[in-house]
Amino acid sequence: MPPHARSAWLRTLGLLALCMAAAALLGLAVGHPWPVATLAALGVLGWHYWRLRRVLQRLTARRRLPPPSGEGVWNELDRLLHRSQAEMRGRKRRLVEMLRAYRAVAAALPDAVVVVDRNSQRVQWFNQASGPLLGLRYPGDLGVPLVQRLQPLPLAHWLAGGRNAEPLETPSPLDPAVTLSMRLIPYSENLWLLVARDVSRLLRLEQMRRDFVANVSHELRTPLTVVHGYLDLIDDGQYPELTPMLAEMQRQSQRMAQLVEDLLTLSRLESQDGLPAEEPVAMAPMLSTLRREALALSQGQHGITIEDSAGVDLVGSGKELHSAFSNLVANAIRYTPAGGEVTVRFRADGPANPKGVVLEVSDTGYGIPAAHLPRITERFYRVSTSRSRESGGTGLGLAIVKHVLQLHRARLEITSEVGRGSIFACHFSRDRVRRRDEPGASSPPGADPAAARA
Ligand code: ADP
Repeated sequence: MPPHARSAWLRTLGLLALCMAAAALLGLAVGHPWPVATLAALGVLGWHYWRLRRVLQRLTARRRLPPPSGEGVWNELDRLLHRSQAEMRGRKRRLVEMLRAYRAVAAALPDAVVVVDRNSQRVQWFNQASGPLLGLRYPGDLGVPLVQRLQPLPLAHWLAGGRNAEPLETPSPLDPAVTLSMRLIPYSENLWLLVARDVSRLLRLEQMRRDFVANVSHELRTPLTVVHGYLDLIDDGQYPELTPMLAEMQRQSQRMAQLVEDLLTLSRLESQDGLPAEEPVAMAPMLSTLRREALALSQGQHGITIEDSAGVDLVGSGKELHSAFSNLVANAIRYTPAGGEVTVRFRADGPANPKGVVLEVSDTGYGIPAAHLPRITERFYRVSTSRSRESGGTGLGLAIVKHVLQLHRARLEITSEVGRGSIFACHFSRDRVRRRDEPGASSPPGADPAAARA
């Protein structure tokens, strides 16, 4: 007990003892000690009840009363209650101020913020920006089901995803020219936060960047073809001193042509939302084409093995898949020193991807340090620029692979150990798989039907 309360307690106890002693003395003096003592005890009890009533009055009073003065345990109790009441009021005021500040921040955000009840999916609260972005109006739209209110948007299925809902890009219900990016954030047991942001400007910039790269690549193509053609025409027998220079010029112009082709391929892949056509892709001829390409690139310097244990075909774009796989095979050859092994395996996937398949290109080459792996599929990202240039790389191969796999909703998994080699695995889900004996499968460009049968 704190010293204040303790001394008040002792003081009241002393007073009580004094009262009772005085009553006992008075009782003895008048010859009726018990009735007088009883009267005194009743008096003390009455006084306590009266003080209790005052405490209750103070607790239930609407207006703020000044803190009590005086000694004794009741005054101390009164003072303590007064103090904790004042503290509580202060805390409440601070909390309300904080809440107001947070609401003001949320209200002033340029993004639309809507609080949605998780069970009923009704609107609980929304900020000002929800008006111009989503068309919500205060107070009429409070308590209205969100899906019904934002009818033209495909929200029902998306909301059902809850915590796992991917950000959704969709035209605004008010203006189709405005694109909104919506995110659903479950922030408590019962409430979700829907955040919608206007990303039209970003998309326009992105589109401008894509168009720029595509146009520049396209414009470069013709002059490069001309330069390349004339270089081929020059007879280096006439000028033997120019032979090394001509060879270098030819090599560089070929590299530039490959760069332009890769940039155009990437632009084309980026501008597609989905695959233009879903066709059966025969994997046996695809694998034998890959083998031929690997042999041609390796020029007998590597051991090349093709394993086909999946026994199925894929569904998608044969041309794009071939370009992705041959990029992986070309990398495996280019980043594996002579004498190394390159293996292309087409097999069933593990239990994490039931009935799915994997096309895996593994090598025993230089490997990739772990720190580079997260960025390896970015355009022009190279572990070693000089090694990539020497081997004729454009820095765009893995970016193309990533885009092709994205279009096929497939996943690229890279495992690598420096000095031991790398594995690039393309995981295709079951909906990309089809039985091999079904007719109509297309072959990749340059496929050799004889090899396919072999
Ligand atoms: P590049 O044309 O330079 O090969 P890529 O996009 O195909 O561009 O590859 C990016 C980088 O990833 C390469 O520069 C190389 O450093 C690394 N890389 C790709 N494949 C392999 C591999 N099989 N082994 C080692 N490093 C690789």
